[in-house]
Amino acid sequence: MSDRYAVIGNPIGFSKSPLIHSTFAKMTGQDLVYEAIEAPLGGFNARVDQFRTEGAKGLNITAPFKLDAFAYANELSESADRAGAANCLKFEGDRIIAENFDGIGLVRDITVNLGVKMAGRRVLMLGVGGAARGALLPFLRQEPSELVLVNRTLSKAVALAEEFAGCGPLIVSGYAELADLAEGYDVVVNATSASLRGEMPPLPGNVFRGSELAYELAYGKGLTPFLQAARAEGVAKLADGVGMLVEQAAEAFAWWRGVRPGTAQVIAELTVPLS
Ligand code: NDP
Repeated sequence: MSDRYAVIGNPIGFSKSPLIHSTFAKMTGQDLVYEAIEAPLGGFNARVDQFRTEGAKGLNITAPFKLDAFAYANELSESADRAGAANCLKFEGDRIIAENFDGIGLVRDITVNLGVKMAGRRVLMLGVGGAARGALLPFLRQEPSELVLVNRTLSKAVALAEEFAGCGPLIVSGYAELADLAEGYDVVVNATSASLRGEMPPLPGNVFRGSELAYELAYGKGLTPFLQAARAEGVAKLADGVGMLVEQAAEAFAWWRGVRPGTAQVIAELTVPLS
């Protein structure tokens, strides 16, 4: 029997993970089946218990269950522990091991696929929700000269920065304060959920002065208001989160199967043009 994996979320119909992992399995000759599970809200544990009794080997987790998956695990990787959330589980007998590959997927897309160095650069991250949280440690490990966190609700950014105090050059700012900056940021990352509603964080245009990359974590939405603003300010490289999605999937696949698939073909297939 083929090994079983799945992505779990609610809703799940939009998920690209079955397509991504089935393609990876074909590319690497791995014998597995990968399905999509929609668990009822409040029903994560029962549904995962059932999947495990059916012999499942692992799960990807998407909204709104990343905190449930974190609580369900009995072993945490450092990245899951630091993020306080899990986007991937591996089942080995009684072991339920949690990982979080969102941050490393984002860093790989920026530094490898897009060829933008973060080391020694000034990086601005908008938003401090789940995705930003998972990205903090992988970003700091790239050794930027500074990593500025900005959030609509400033107190959340302050609390997050306190948690990561001593891990690197982390600075907190409100949106309004950014207007006084003399120079822009090399890399500007939109980790807010504003684009999902066609909204723009209250970001002054000067942050894009001299920027090499504007990165939008949401994907498949074309030119979001954030990317439009970056383009209007002359930013040369614009990207959305499709590469991050595929890279975190490749990390999960490698963790489960011991073989890392190439990602370029799948990223190309899933990319919605930014126009
Ligand atoms: P969360 O709900 O955890 O966090 C939302 C964040 O966005 C908060 O910081 C919130 O600020 C901020 N925000 C929301 N609306 C606005 C607005 N209008 N103006 C300014 N700030 C705003 O979301 P996630 O971290 O889970 O997801 C963030 C984004 O990342 C989404 O677009 C999601 O689709 C994408 N994502 C992409 C992935 C990929 O693989 N490409 C993986 C995971 C997420 P406040 O605290 O003030 O409310």
